Amino acid sequence: DQNRPKAPVASSRPAHVKRVIVVGSGKGGVGKSTVALSLALALKGLGLRVGLLDADIYGPSAPLMLGVTTPPAFGPEKMMIPPQAFGLKVNSVGFLVDADQAMIWRGPMASQALNQLLTQTLWGTEAEPLDVLVVDMPPGTGDVQLTLTQKTMIDGAVVVSTPQEMALIDARRAITLFEKTSVKILGIVENMAWLENPVSGEAIYVFGRDGAKILAQNLKVPFLGDVPLDPALRKGSDEAQPLVALEPDGDVAVRFKMIAQAV
Ligand code: ADP
Repeated sequence: DQNRPKAPVASSRPAHVKRVIVVGSGKGGVGKSTVALSLALALKGLGLRVGLLDADIYGPSAPLMLGVTTPPAFGPEKMMIPPQAFGLKVNSVGFLVDADQAMIWRGPMASQALNQLLTQTLWGTEAEPLDVLVVDMPPGTGDVQLTLTQKTMIDGAVVVSTPQEMALIDARRAITLFEKTSVKILGIVENMAWLENPVSGEAIYVFGRDGAKILAQNLKVPFLGDVPLDPALRKGSDEAQPLVALEPDGDVAVRFKMIAQAV
C-alpha cells in the first residue's frame, strides 16, 4: 500500500464556488444522503448560498427527497442550469440517466459523469458565487470515490456513520481514503444515534452507543454531532418535505445547525 503512487494534484474545481464539502460514508444506508441534504439546508439557514450535488451513482436520492423532477435546462456553453428547491441549487446523477443505468457504470464512466456535474453546472456566477457546494458522495471507498477525491479540489469531508461496529469499520476506511488523498477531514457525524421511546422518552440505542464518537476520538478527528433516529426525518425525505426546512426550530434542525456551524 505504501508503495502506491501519490495522488495526483487535484485539478478540477467548479467555477464560482467558494467551498466544496463532500459527505461520504463507508457503507450505504447509514443516512449519508439525509445528512448531506440536511447539512445543505442548515448551511442555507445560516444565510449562505448553497448547492447540493447528488453524486451517489448507486442510488441518487436528491430529486426524490426534494421533489425535483425536471432535469436541469442547458444554458450558454452547454452549462446545466440547476433547478432550485428549498433555496438550494440542485443537480443529481439521477437527472443524467435513470438509476438502474448509473449503477452499472464502469468506474471511468461514473467519474466522467460526476466531473461533468461538478464543472458543467452553473452553480454560481461571478456576481453571485456559491458559498458552499455539498457533494453527496457514493458510499464506500472504490475507484469512483478515489478519482473524485483526486480530481476535484475538495475543501473538506464529512463522514457519516451509525454507531454500529460494521458501519464504523467502513467509516474508518472512508477516513483513510480522504487522508490518503489529502482531503481535510472536517469530522464525523453520528447518525441514527438513538431512538426516543415515544411513551417514556427514554433513549433506545438501536445501533449501539457512542460508536462514532469513540471513533472520532481514536482517530483524532472532530466529532461534529449526533442525530437521532427520527421517523419525521424519514417521512420528510420520502414526502419531499425535508424536516430541516419544514421545522427549522425543531430538535433535528438545531442539531444540523450546530453541525453546519462546525464545518
Ligand atoms: P445513505 O445515503 O447512507 O444510503 P439515506 O440517507 O438514503 O442513506 O438513508 C437511508 C434511509 O434511512 C432513508 O429512508 C432515510 O430517510 C432514513 N434515515 C436516514 N437517517 C435517518 C434518521 N436519522 N432518522 C430516521 N430515518 C433516517
